[in-house]
Amino acid sequence: MDKTSGDFFHLTTKDGLPNDVVYGILADSAGNIWGSTNRGIFCLIHSVSKTGDHWQFRNFTKTDGLQDDEFNTGAYAKLANGNLAFGGVNGLNIFNPAEVLVAGYSPGVFITDILVNNEALTPNDKTGILQQSIEQTKSITLNWLQDILTLEFSSLDFTAPGQNKYRYQLAGVDKDWVESGNRRTATYLHLPPGNYVFKVQGSNSQGIWSDKIAELHITVLPPWWRSWWAYLCYALLVGLCIWAYLRFTLNRARLKAQLNFEQLEAKRVKELDTIKTQLYTNITHEFRTPLTIILGMAQQIVNKPGEYFNSGMDMIIRNGKNLLKLVNEMLDLSKLETGKMSLQLINGDMINFLRYIAESFHSLAESQHKQLHFLSDIDTLHVAYDPEKIRQIVSNLLSNALKFTPEKGNIYISVTEYTVTGRADKIGLVIKVKDTGIGIPESQLQHIFDRFYQSDNSHTRKAEGTGIGLALTKELVKLMEGEITVKSPPSGSNKGSEFTVSLPLIKVVDTGEADDVPLLKISYDHTTASENKTVITNGHNATNPLILLVEDNADVVAYTASCLPDYRLAVGKDGKEGFEIAKEIIPDLIITDVMMPFVDGFELCKLLRSDEHTSHIPIIMLTAKADIESRLQGLSTGADAYLEKPFNKEELSIRINKLLELRKNLQQYYLKKAGLADVAQSPAILAATSEMTLSDKREDEFVKKVREIIELHLTETNFSVEQLCQSVFMSYSQLNRKLDALTGCSPNKFIRMIRFNKAKELLKDPSNGIASVAMDCGYNDPGYFARIFKQEHGVTPHEWRMNNKLPYLN
Ligand code: ADP
Repeated sequence: MDKTSGDFFHLTTKDGLPNDVVYGILADSAGNIWGSTNRGIFCLIHSVSKTGDHWQFRNFTKTDGLQDDEFNTGAYAKLANGNLAFGGVNGLNIFNPAEVLVAGYSPGVFITDILVNNEALTPNDKTGILQQSIEQTKSITLNWLQDILTLEFSSLDFTAPGQNKYRYQLAGVDKDWVESGNRRTATYLHLPPGNYVFKVQGSNSQGIWSDKIAELHITVLPPWWRSWWAYLCYALLVGLCIWAYLRFTLNRARLKAQLNFEQLEAKRVKELDTIKTQLYTNITHEFRTPLTIILGMAQQIVNKPGEYFNSGMDMIIRNGKNLLKLVNEMLDLSKLETGKMSLQLINGDMINFLRYIAESFHSLAESQHKQLHFLSDIDTLHVAYDPEKIRQIVSNLLSNALKFTPEKGNIYISVTEYTVTGRADKIGLVIKVKDTGIGIPESQLQHIFDRFYQSDNSHTRKAEGTGIGLALTKELVKLMEGEITVKSPPSGSNKGSEFTVSLPLIKVVDTGEADDVPLLKISYDHTTASENKTVITNGHNATNPLILLVEDNADVVAYTASCLPDYRLAVGKDGKEGFEIAKEIIPDLIITDVMMPFVDGFELCKLLRSDEHTSHIPIIMLTAKADIESRLQGLSTGADAYLEKPFNKEELSIRINKLLELRKNLQQYYLKKAGLADVAQSPAILAATSEMTLSDKREDEFVKKVREIIELHLTETNFSVEQLCQSVFMSYSQLNRKLDALTGCSPNKFIRMIRFNKAKELLKDPSNGIASVAMDCGYNDPGYFARIFKQEHGVTPHEWRMNNKLPYLN
């Protein structure tokens, strides 16, 4: 009612009243009218402006914090302190009207409700998110299934709650504040896992933002498959997969490699099989051919010895040798391949040695009407080398060159030096063996070092061979860390082949103490020979056997000398000189070459045997010509042994030893034959006598002759050695050496032995007085006779007589 005009106003919901049913009305101290309705409390605010009085409704509802929207009739009162009280269906609201309406009030804002998947949370509900009331809760944790999150918030400004504004921000999702007006909820769907902070700010009804911001920390847990342990599991799983993959691929690779290996192995075995078959074919052929010849020839000799003996024996020996060579080479090769062969190094002059090997082939080449040339830039080269292996290498190359070069062809062996890079202690030696022979087809060059390879594999090929020589040569060169190459034809030539062997050798200083000492220490000794004859001696031990070497080539002499360090050596340059020296010095053994100027080996042999001075001396023939004819010729002229050049050092020394041993054994035999020894026939003597040659029988005669001469002069007390020498036409030293060789006695001792022999015979007859016995044996002083008899026999002549009485005299 307007007091001035007395007019009544009728105010309804149209004017802003919340509800037309008003239960109670109160006026506050500021003149505003407050009333409770079915729809909350209203306040009719009175303001005065220039235009007059203004009335404005501000309504409050449950959302502004009232107990409920519905109030009850009569339940209102103005309290003494000016606060107003309104009662309703849900209790009572008491407030200070001035405070509620005050402007600029900065209300606090609170999160009032949290809904997860559209269900409000309560403390300790089944979700377990809230442990305490929302007001006290600072943070919540959601799992990946709780993905619809609604937050409700409210400001504490109840002046005009409908006009309160809000803004919020979920840090981590919203970049800026989200203005929500008077909407009091914020909903988020499908928040990704992470940590967020929800902030909400409210303004009062006048739009002034409160500086009080409500915050709630929200943690959204990832689904289990995105948790750290799930990632750890993934990592482990991936690691496991990679490992399994790697293992798998590795295994596969291994399997593949194994398969490959097996395939290769199978291929290799197959190849090996083929090679084996080829080898068997080759080998059986190589064995069968000589065996067929040997057996066939043997049969021929049995059938017609007269016709076939010479040629047949020659073939048998040659083929037998080939077989032996093949077997030896195969053994060497397998030894080399299994690494069982080692180098036997000696220090020495290798050029000299090579010269010797070349020289050994010289006469063979000549006999085949081929020229062999040794060319060397260097005179001497002191290195450590294995002579046997070098001999094998060079011999193989030279014999191939000879084999594949026709008559009138040339074979060159040349030696040059080279420096081994990076090895100051070594010196390289290139040995080239070049020939003007048939050459090797280019397509076959790569194969010729293969085992059992022969360029002419036809059964009708001219040259004999096994195809093993070059394989062995190559292995030997490899053992010496060298290289072997072949060129055919040699550069600058249009026929023939050239083999080049490069060997790195260890240098040694020529201290004069090399292993092949004798080569270096040979000294000239003119005391035992007349001036025009050269005698060299190895050392000066006069008890060492004396050997005469008859050889025209100085290198062979030097090498042979090096092989005989334990003997005294004398050297003759040819047969003529050799014979003279032999007669002069009566050596214990003679080694002679066959092909020599003036007088050859056979002739020399004949001369030696027919001369009484030298007829007893064992003779070894060294020759490149070892065919049966030559052997037979040599043997028939009186050689005791044959050695093929280049000879093997061991073989030579064994031969010498055996022959000297045989001589020793024969001494007893000669003595016995001469009636001077009654030794039992030892097996050695029996063996020796069974091996006696024609000439040995002649020696018998010589010893017998000497004995007879002595016996003839037995009673002559002054019969001297000089007389004996004259009777046998020998000098003292000749007779001495010859008798010594045959009987082991000096002439003096020999005479004495014969005298005593006679004495013993006479002593057996007791009718002979000791003095007369002494006289009969050439001793005119019985006392002297008795003394030396005792010296020799340990008993006096008288005692001897007592012990050896003739049985019929008893
Ligand atoms: P073989 O015992 O058959 O001589 P090698 O291994 O010594 O065996 O030689 C293999 C092959 O190489 C010979 O059969 C021959 O065909 C060839 N050969 C070797 N040396 C010569 C050469 N100097 N001239 C021509 N061919 C050669």
